Parts: sequence; C-alpha cells; structure tokens
Amino acid sequence: ENGPVTNSTTPPQLDGWLHRYSGKVRDLYVPADGSDAHLLVVASNRVSAFDHVLEPPIPGKGALLTALSNWWFERIDLPNHLAGEGSGAPAVPEEVADRAMVTRRLDMHPIECVVRGALTGSGFAEYQRTGAVCGIELPSGIEDGDLLETPIYTPAYKAPLGEHDENITFERSVELVGVEVATALRDASLRIFTAARDLAAERGVILADTKFEFGRDPETGALVLADEVLTSDSSRYWDAEAYADTSRDRAERLASFDKQIVRNWLRAHWDGTGEPPALPDEIVERTYARYRELYTRLTGLER
Ligand code: ATP
Ligand code: MG
Repeated sequence: ENGPVTNSTTPPQLDGWLHRYSGKVRDLYVPADGSDAHLLVVASNRVSAFDHVLEPPIPGKGALLTALSNWWFERIDLPNHLAGEGSGAPAVPEEVADRAMVTRRLDMHPIECVVRGALTGSGFAEYQRTGAVCGIELPSGIEDGDLLETPIYTPAYKAPLGEHDENITFERSVELVGVEVATALRDASLRIFTAARDLAAERGVILADTKFEFGRDPETGALVLADEVLTSDSSRYWDAEAYADTSRDRAERLASFDKQIVRNWLRAHWDGTGEPPALPDEIVERTYARYRELYTRLTGLER
C-alpha cells in the first residue's frame, strides 16, 4: 500500500504530516509524530485518463471533489471515516484546507464495491462477452447504457499497487474477506447506492454506477465507509434530460459529468503510445465546468 510516488506532480510538504503515498489523483499523509490512528487524504487537481496522469492539472478540481464527497458523507446513513471536530485528530493543514480530509485510519477491505444501476463501460463489455457481470447473469438484449431493473453489486479485487483491479464474483469476495464481511459490504453498497440514486434523480441526475471502499475500525471492529464517495471520479452520472432524449445519439445521451471531455480530446489527438500531449486551456476549462455543474446540480450550491 505504501509504494513509491508514481506521478509527476510533487505533493506539497505539509507541517506535521509525512507524505506516504500518492495514487494517480490523491496524496496520502500520516502524522509526523508517528501515531497511526489518522490519515490525511489530499485531493490533488490531477486528472487521469487511460491510466496516465495528464498535464496540466485542473485548477479547483480537488476542492470540488472533496466538497462533493463531504456533502454525500453527511447524507449517508453509515459511519464514515471522517475524523471530525472534537475527535482529537490533528487539523487539516491550512494550505490544503479546501481539498483534504483527516480520516481515521482503517484496515481497508481489499474490495472495490462497485454498484451498477445501468450497464455501460467495462460492465457492458463483460456482459457482451459473457452474458453476465461478475457472475450475475443478465437478460439478453441489454444495450449500452440501459438502466437495470435492480442495481447489481459487481465487486472488484483491489489489486496491489501497479496491478489492475480484477472483477470478481460475490463468491470470490467471500473467499477473500469471509462471508460476514462480504455480505455486509454488498448490502451496505446496495443500500447506499439506492438512496443516493433516488436523491440524484430528484435533481435530474442519473447515478449510473459507482464504487465504494470500506474499512474496519481497528478499535470497534465496525464497518466504516472510507475513501471518497459518489464523486465524479468514482461514479458515473448522466443528465436525466439528455438521457431521455432518444433522438440524440448514444454518446450525447450518456455524456458523463466527469473527464469525458478529456478522454474524447485525447482520443482525437493521441494514438495511445508514449506520453499523452498536454491538454489545451479550453479542455481544462470545459472539464472544470462539467465537474462544477454536477456539484451545483446535486447540492444546489454555487462554487
Ligand atoms: P488510483 O489512483 O487507481 O485510485 P489508489 O486507489 O491506490 O490508486 P488513491 O485512491 O489516491 O490511490 O488512494 C487512496 C488510498 O487510500 C486507497 O488505497 C484507499 O483504499 C485508501 N484509504 C482511503 N480511506 C482510508 C482510510 N480511512 N484508512 C486507510 N486507508 C484508506
Ligand atoms: Mg483509489
């Protein structure tokens, strides 16, 4: 888990914290005093696509995703990893105040808890090949982007650093974490997804799919919701009005509130070999606007 730094943008030095690890998008710190009860998760402005971290970063992205994650945490009826005021946890450093969270450090379950309310992306590809996703057989004739009658839980094994996550069956997740935890992960994921989907729908947004991560509180043993939740990096959101307009082509109906703009631009300007080209300012601005639009739609708050 604590592997080498793998991206080009150097994480900031923060007083009282030691940089421990960087994912493609976030930087993790531990308290410099050696205590291991907490973790600082800093959302950078980096954007990744096709497994590359791109240049330049998207100013404001980290703050938007942190705000959205916090907004959802407040509305989800399950304990989460935010340390919160009065918990005795160290404060978020001033420099990263709007894009970081201090969390309780959990023993993470190595499962990416994916829930799909619609079939698209890698789930749709697996269905086309096999007629099933993660061992769940689905009716024939489903098309890319179709909503499923009931959301399905399609877990992935969180592979060690550098390896690709691997879709697994529920039975395989039982082998990995035991039947009790595997069942709790599935049930919590489906329950949170359904509540979030309904809330988003009230705001004209379709929550197509998302990924949760959970950990175990080392003191109480409780199941705790961790990582980021229901952000546009961990979820696919569609505009309900565009989705319903069947006169549009599929790409427009399923335009997600994320870095689709970046992916489309890269596809048109890069053959996928070597380093990807730098994003033009216009693409950076449009991508930020798209992230912000989702935030405003869901929360009703301006930013
Ligand atoms: P990727 O860039 O593909 O997402 P990654 O998942 O390794 O790679 P991040 O998502 O940036 O990188 O890093 C967050 C890491 O912190 C994940 O490994 C996640 O499981 C872990 N994590 C999140 N919340 C907690 C927590 N409360 N306690 C311990 N670990 C946590
Ligand atoms: Mg991650």
